Amino acid sequence: MSRLDSFIHRVQAQRDILNHVRDLGLPHANGLILEIGLGNGRTYDHLRENFPGCRILAFDRALGAHPASTPAPGDLVLGEIRDTIGQAAGAGAAFVHADIGTAYPEVDADTITWLPQAVADALAPGGIAASGLPLAHEALAPLPLPDGIRPGRYHLYRRR
Ligand code: SAM
Repeated sequence: MSRLDSFIHRVQAQRDILNHVRDLGLPHANGLILEIGLGNGRTYDHLRENFPGCRILAFDRALGAHPASTPAPGDLVLGEIRDTIGQAAGAGAAFVHADIGTAYPEVDADTITWLPQAVADALAPGGIAASGLPLAHEALAPLPLPDGIRPGRYHLYRRR
């Protein structure tokens, strides 16, 4: 599969997963959503559109989002996520979306040493996580993917 095909499949899977989580409904938590990896802000914008009324707190090492998809300063945390995500521990988030996978296996291998615990710590019981990288953690129970998404392309969990 070409990298272009792979990119198209990834963004289609993202949209389908975010829509699926919207349709599942978020738990009666505080309505907080964490966007881990703001990037250009495309999925942030989709979250904003599909989860009206929720606060979206975004993380990235630097601001690279389109101005139309840039969170307010109080909703954007800049820096290495490994160092900054601790501030979301105990936040009781309803939904965490993490899109910080790379094309570099050694980078991703390092990321999955700390990301699963950080996501488990941030979510409310019953909260949902969607991630491009697997989140192996005893507190995160895998959920079925919506139709059409190849297993392994994206990962969906509910906090026990
Ligand atoms: N979902 C975004 C969108 O739709 O525009 C794209 C996210 S992009 C694939 C990943 C982003 O995560 C990049 O902007 C990168 O800077 C950030 N990122 C990845 N790993 C990170 C880390 N360990 N700490 C801080 N930022 C990180």
